[in-house]
Amino acid sequence: MNMPDMPTCLIAEDDIRIIVRRLGAEIGASYRDCPQQLVVVGLLKGAFIFMADLVRQLELPLAVDFLGVSSYGDGTTSSGDIRLTMDLATDIAGRDVLLVEDIVDTGITIAAVRRLLECRRPRSLRVCALLSKPDCRRVDVQVDFIGKEIDDVFVVGYGLDYAENFRHLPFIGTIFNTNKLPGKV
Ligand code: 5GP
Repeated sequence: MNMPDMPTCLIAEDDIRIIVRRLGAEIGASYRDCPQQLVVVGLLKGAFIFMADLVRQLELPLAVDFLGVSSYGDGTTSSGDIRLTMDLATDIAGRDVLLVEDIVDTGITIAAVRRLLECRRPRSLRVCALLSKPDCRRVDVQVDFIGKEIDDVFVVGYGLDYAENFRHLPFIGTIFNTNKLPGKV
């Protein structure tokens, strides 16, 4: 069996920690006068590690929930086809909601999720993304808090996968030779 090449490090563990701490401070400051409990919604699966680290940086009353969406299948290019795989357990009507996303690429996923959640009439809805690829944007979507902008490269690790590989890596890396990955035919 072909073993995958180890991803090349793009953002080291220590640098991720600095980024998440800075995002926590920015978000904390912007919700300082929020009169009610914030609902932090993580997009599965990619945001699960980022979300766990981010909420521990927030000194605010908050609840967490998760929304399952899938857009990429097992490839590395966006299909533009968004599927809801798991809905929220929380009624967000009248609530302040912070949507947490791993990476914004074309913007199609976050635009679709924003539309879906806005229909449920939250009091406010903001978006936090760990990573953003501004050169890849195909739809104009508002991202209120961005951890780091990166070039148009495919990244894995810290929750992000390629065909379900590499989510567990503590750093964010790039893979170049996707033909050698397990599951690739
Ligand atoms: P968009 O709809 O903005 O094009 O894509 C957003 C989703 O595609 C992200 O939530 C993520 O799951 C996936 N995605 C986009 N770029 C990358 C990438 O570089 N690496 C990985 N692993 N997933 C990505």
